[in-house]
Amino acid sequence: MEGMDKAVSGASLKDFATAVSDLILPRHCFVCGKRLTLSERYLCLECRSDLPYTFFWDQSHNPMADKYNARIRDQVPHGVEEAYGHAAALLYYNSESGYKNIPQALKYRFALGLGREFADRLGERLASSPEFKDVDCVIPVPLHWRRRRGRGYNQAAVIARRVALALGARFCPEGLRRLRYTKSQTSVGMEKKASNVSDAFRVLHRVEARHILLIDDTFTTGSTLAACHKALREVYPPSVRISVATLSYVGP
Ligand SMILES: [Zn+2]
Repeated sequence: MEGMDKAVSGASLKDFATAVSDLILPRHCFVCGKRLTLSERYLCLECRSDLPYTFFWDQSHNPMADKYNARIRDQVPHGVEEAYGHAAALLYYNSESGYKNIPQALKYRFALGLGREFADRLGERLASSPEFKDVDCVIPVPLHWRRRRGRGYNQAAVIARRVALALGARFCPEGLRRLRYTKSQTSVGMEKKASNVSDAFRVLHRVEARHILLIDDTFTTGSTLAACHKALREVYPPSVRISVATLSYVGP
């Protein structure tokens, strides 16, 4: 009884603290900007009930996987057998929609708690998918050290760590290294970006793995993930499966 009282007073103390801090610094929904109520966290109830899920984790062939595999096919040497790579994203990323703010806030606004919550959602879905549940190593797309120092963290690593936990797989942040400092994708054209990034990655530490999952924040053209795939394939034989997953996918 005493323990329960303690738990109740602990919870109401936390609510009280949230209420006071809401008065001083109101919290707003990351998607629509509406002021959040005491019980809401990061997103308002309406925006939470309307999340634009892709359901790609339920489809072994989907638009993201098709784009990714087309990129991989372009770079595989003639005669080499490359299995169809699985790919899934949690949410659609549409420039017209406020849901694009979720990956952007993780990338540019230090919204780590928000990023972790959605990474957990992605991880749960991948763990329930026959294509992803046997993943044993999760590698984030690395940032160049100069960019990571500027930002303070790698957003792909924030996602990858939580996804690895959900899959019961190893989190391998050193699985790939970014060797070249490339301009951000917003400042160069898409095709230029692909040639810019194609030799930017290298495996420095080989890990024991049968199914590697590459993680990035957003899938746009797939050129960055294909470049990572290429670097991994220089070290890992075709018997090691390489799949990809992201928080968002640029689409409808
Ligand atoms: Zn909202």
